Amino acid sequence: MRIALIAHDRKKDAMVALAREHAAFLSTQTLMATGTTGSRLRDEVGLAVECLLSGPLGGDLQIGARLAVGEVDAVVFLRDPMTPQPHEPDINALVRACDVHDVPCATNVATARALLEALARG
Ligand code: PGA
Repeated sequence: MRIALIAHDRKKDAMVALAREHAAFLSTQTLMATGTTGSRLRDEVGLAVECLLSGPLGGDLQIGARLAVGEVDAVVFLRDPMTPQPHEPDINALVRACDVHDVPCATNVATARALLEALARG
C-alpha cells in the first residue's frame, strides 16, 4: 500500500513512536511524507520514506494531488488541534480530498493505530 505520513510539529514525537510500534508493517509498504516528518522517520526509525515538501511549503498539497489521482491508499495525519497553522487551507484540502476519494485518514494516534493494525491484517 502507498501510505502518506504527516505530523505537525508538536505531534512529531508521537509519529516517531507510532512508526516504531508499526515499523515491521510500515517497512514493507511504500511510504511518503511531508519533509520534516519524513526526515525524522528516516533518521530515527530507519524507514525508507519519500520526502516531499514540508507541509507549510506545499507538502500537504503534493500528497493531496497524488491522492486525487489514486496514488495514495491511506493517510496518517497527526494534526495539532491546539496550534494555528499557516497552511490551514492546505490541511483542510487534504482531509477533504480523503473524504472525496474515500481514502482512510487517521488524524489522531488512536485512530492511526487502529488503521495500521487493520491494514497490517490485510
Ligand atoms: P513537515 O510538515 O513534516 O515538513 O513539518 C508537516 C506540517 O507541518 O504540515
